[in-house]
Amino acid sequence: MPDSGQQWHGSPESVAYKPGKGVFITLLLILAFAVSVIGYFFWYIPTVGLRSIHPALPWLLGAFVIALSAAFFGGGAFILNAALKGRVPFYSPSLRWLIMRLYLPVMAIAGGLLKIPKIRIEQAFIEINNQMVAMMGRRIKPERLLILMPHCIQFDDCKIKVTRNVRNCVGCGKCEIGELVSLSDEFGVNLFISTGGTVARRKVYEEQPQAVIAVACERDLASGLQDAYPLPVYAIVNKRPRGYCMETGVAIQDIRRAISELAGRP
Ligand code: SF4
Repeated sequence: MPDSGQQWHGSPESVAYKPGKGVFITLLLILAFAVSVIGYFFWYIPTVGLRSIHPALPWLLGAFVIALSAAFFGGGAFILNAALKGRVPFYSPSLRWLIMRLYLPVMAIAGGLLKIPKIRIEQAFIEINNQMVAMMGRRIKPERLLILMPHCIQFDDCKIKVTRNVRNCVGCGKCEIGELVSLSDEFGVNLFISTGGTVARRKVYEEQPQAVIAVACERDLASGLQDAYPLPVYAIVNKRPRGYCMETGVAIQDIRRAISELAGRP
């Protein structure tokens, strides 16, 4: 926390970020069991009628169900391995596609049924997404990286407009924007303070970065990651000592680490 004269105590609305891969993995295992049981019934019940049409049809249907299950479990095992080891033998964009388009929505539904807070699933999703993005092993030029910060990170009483030009910040230390500008200068990375999702999307469209480092709350990050796909986005959950959307913060060392991961810089 910069020298704002205040300690960072948090508030009832502030949710500490605890990466929750365990939630994701547990849900995956429960789902695997559920899919096996449901898959068996979906195979067994029609076979009674199919056999009367042709004796080979139940086997064809069985082969189809097994292929479908194998694809589901194969993807799940791959993600599980990524979650546990932080690395997979090879990276494929389809892995990220599986997580974004299939596993997250399914996990969210399963988590809802099991009364697991959505935020825990989003945290797990963010964590695994970041591992995948880091695994891409791309050495992106710093100038093709874009750091997207939400406007709520700014000190509430600051009269300086930083959303059009972040360089207007005079670095008074009352919020972290000054430090972010210094980091942007140090690495030559683009930095943008966004007033909302539409503005952020427009900035991404204009800049055409190769990767984005985004800071926001879990909900915005989870939906933003899906919107931005296939653009790789390294997501960092913000601090919320005053609750959502007001004088939020970010750990500068997390941004530094993200730049290092993506640009291969120390
Ligand atoms: S935006 Fe810059 S000038 Fe304004 S409070 Fe934050 S650090 Fe100070």
